[in-house]
Amino acid sequence: MSLIIEQDKIDIELAKKLINICPFNQITYENNLLNIGAGCKLCKLCLKASNGSIYFQEKNIVKIDKANYFGVLVFVEHNKGKIHEVSFELLNKASQLAKKINNPVYALIIGNGDVENIQDLYAYGADRVFSYEDKELKNFLIEPYTTIFEDFINIYKPNSILIGATDIGRTLAPRVAARFKTGLTADCTSLEMKDNTDLVQIRPAFGGNIMARIITPNNRPQMCTVRYKIFDKGEKRKTVKNEVEKLFIDKNKLKSRIFINSIIEKDLEVDISEAQMIVACGRGIKQKSDIAFIEHFCKIIGAKIACTRPLIEKGWFNPKQQIGLSGRTVKPKLLITVGVSGSVQFVAGAKGSDCIIAINLDSNAQIFDVANYGFVGDLYKILPNLINKIEEYKSV
Ligand SMILES: Cc1cc2nc3c(=O)[nH]c(=O)nc-3n(C[C@H](O)[C@H](O)[C@H](O)COP(=O)(O)OP(=O)(O)OC[C@H]3O[C@@H](n4cnc5c(N)ncnc54)[C@H](O)[C@@H]3O)c2cc1C
Repeated sequence: MSLIIEQDKIDIELAKKLINICPFNQITYENNLLNIGAGCKLCKLCLKASNGSIYFQEKNIVKIDKANYFGVLVFVEHNKGKIHEVSFELLNKASQLAKKINNPVYALIIGNGDVENIQDLYAYGADRVFSYEDKELKNFLIEPYTTIFEDFINIYKPNSILIGATDIGRTLAPRVAARFKTGLTADCTSLEMKDNTDLVQIRPAFGGNIMARIITPNNRPQMCTVRYKIFDKGEKRKTVKNEVEKLFIDKNKLKSRIFINSIIEKDLEVDISEAQMIVACGRGIKQKSDIAFIEHFCKIIGAKIACTRPLIEKGWFNPKQQIGLSGRTVKPKLLITVGVSGSVQFVAGAKGSDCIIAINLDSNAQIFDVANYGFVGDLYKILPNLINKIEEYKSV
C-alpha cells in the first residue's frame, strides 16, 4: 500500500489543519510541499481531514494459488540428539490444524543425523518426517539452515509452518519468511485453520489488552512461532516403524560465513517452564532481603521461585524467572502467588497452571479471578504460619 499526497490540492490553510491534526507530529509543510515523516503510525486522521488530497493506493496483489500449498510443517529443533519438547507440542497442534483442511503433517529435521527419538515424531502427529543430514549441519548455523529450509519449501510447498519460539526458532523463522516475502507472526498463543486454508495466528497485542487475529491471505507459506508450553504435547500414538525421508543436499547450500571455533556450555539454569511447583513473588514483597524467606518456603515444599516483571525491573531476579507475556509461560501442577495482583500480562503466562493458590491483601485483586484457592491477607503473616504448619507436619 502506498500513501499518495496530491500536492497541488494542498494549500497553506489545509497544511496547517493537517499539521495540527497529526497526533504524532509527523506532518511538515516546506516549499509548498506537504511531507509525512517516517514516524507516521497510519492512524489515518489526516486522510479524513484532507478532502481527498491524501489517500492510500493499494498495490497490485499477485494472487497465489492456495491449492498449490499443501501440508502443515513443524520445524524440529534438537540438541545433542534430543528433540526439543516444543516440537512435539507443535506437532500436536499441527495435527489439529491439518485435519481441518485434510492436509498431512510434515516434520523437518536439519542436522548431522544424530537425532535419537525420530520415531516419536510419528507417534506425536507427523505423517511424514524429512531429514537433511550432513556433518556440516551438526551445529545451528543461520546461513545453511535458512538455505536448506528454503530448499524444502520450494520442493514441498507447505501451506503453514510452525516453529518453536526458542533462540534458534526466533533466529531462523524471520530469515526464512524473508526469503519467501511472506508473513510471520511471533509468539502465537493460539492457532486456528480456516476452511480456505488461511491460518489464523492469534497473539496478544497492545500490551496484552487485545488478542490480535492475524492472517496471511495473499502469501504462502504462512509462518508463525510459538513458545514452549503454550500447546499440549498430546497423547503418544501407537505407530508402526516409519521411514525417515532423507533429502539431497547440494554442497553449495552448506556455505557459511560464520565459523564456530568452540562451544562453551553454560551452567544449567533454573528453567521455570519445566517446574511442577512454583512460588511466584510479586510487588507485595517489600524488600529484596525478604526473598530469602520465600526461598526457604520453596525449599520445604520443593518449588522453584519465580516472579512478576516489576521484580525483574528492580533487579531482584534473573529475567528467566519472570512469568508472563514478556516472560516465560509456565504450566506447573501448583502455582502459589505471593503479593501478585494478577495483571493480564502475568496471567497470560500462568493460566495453564493446574492449580493456583493466591495470597494477596486485597480481596478484589484480579489474581483471585483465576486462582483456585485464595488467602486474603498479609503474606508476611500467612507464609510464616504456612511454613510452621508444613514443618510441623513433616516432623510427625
Ligand atoms: C507489554 C507489557 C508486557 C508485560 N509483561 C509482563 C509479564 O510478562 N509479567 C508480569 O508479571 N508483568 C508484565 N507486565 C507488567 C504488568 O502489567 C503488571 O504491572 C505486573 O504484572 C504487576 O506485578 P505485580 O503483581 O507484582 O505488582 P502489583 O500490580 O503492584 O501488585 C502487587 C500486589 O501485591 C499485593 N500486596 C501488597 N502487599 C502485600 C502483602 N503484604 N501481602 C499480600 N499481598 C500484598 C497488592 O494487593 C497487589 O495486588 C507487562 C506490562 C506490559 C505493558
